[in-house]
Amino acid sequence: MSELNLVLLGPPGSGKGTQGETLQEDLHLPYYATGDILRAAVREGTAIGLEAKQYMERGDLVPDDVIVGVIAERIDGAEAEDGFILDGFPRTLPQADALDGMLGEIGREISLVLHFMLPEEMAEQRLLRRAAEQSRSDDTPDVIRRRMELQRAPDELVAYYRAKGILVGIHADRTIDEVFAEVQAVLETAAAR
Ligand code: AMP
Repeated sequence: MSELNLVLLGPPGSGKGTQGETLQEDLHLPYYATGDILRAAVREGTAIGLEAKQYMERGDLVPDDVIVGVIAERIDGAEAEDGFILDGFPRTLPQADALDGMLGEIGREISLVLHFMLPEEMAEQRLLRRAAEQSRSDDTPDVIRRRMELQRAPDELVAYYRAKGILVGIHADRTIDEVFAEVQAVLETAAAR
């Protein structure tokens, strides 16, 4: 496989961020976590940051056109020539459609979607623990519940990518090392295809 365009799918707290960062080093590919990108934009007070802030504080999704613009300029950049790792995007079907559209325009497509599967109670517990450790302003119990609600149904995204035959489930209810071993095995199998 000459190019590896990866999407990490899964609820907040499923560990996909941790795995994404390790993968970034392992695969030497840029890692685009939309939550991190938006939080940086808010800190820097950019136009996108100002717009996103109000939604993020409530735990709502920022509008599709805002986030699609953020991603478009990155995946079309020189840095992402050999591929990329997307985390937190797409979150909705219109975003998935937009992603396919912009990749199609440059003759590319998503190679693989890793779906991090985790029981909901476990994801909530992990988020509350992270809130205590990092004091993220959107990790309060109320906002966490709202984010869980919103992201409980990536079912349509899962179905979308399953139908394309590029979805692989990852058992995310294990240790970081065990999950990473599973991810690596999946990538090796895909590379051998
Ligand atoms: P995360 O760090 O992925 O949990 O994202 C934090 C917040 O950023 C979310 O609660 C949303 O408000 C916003 N966000 C991140 N990614 C997206 C996206 N793909 N679409 C809409 N909003 C997003």
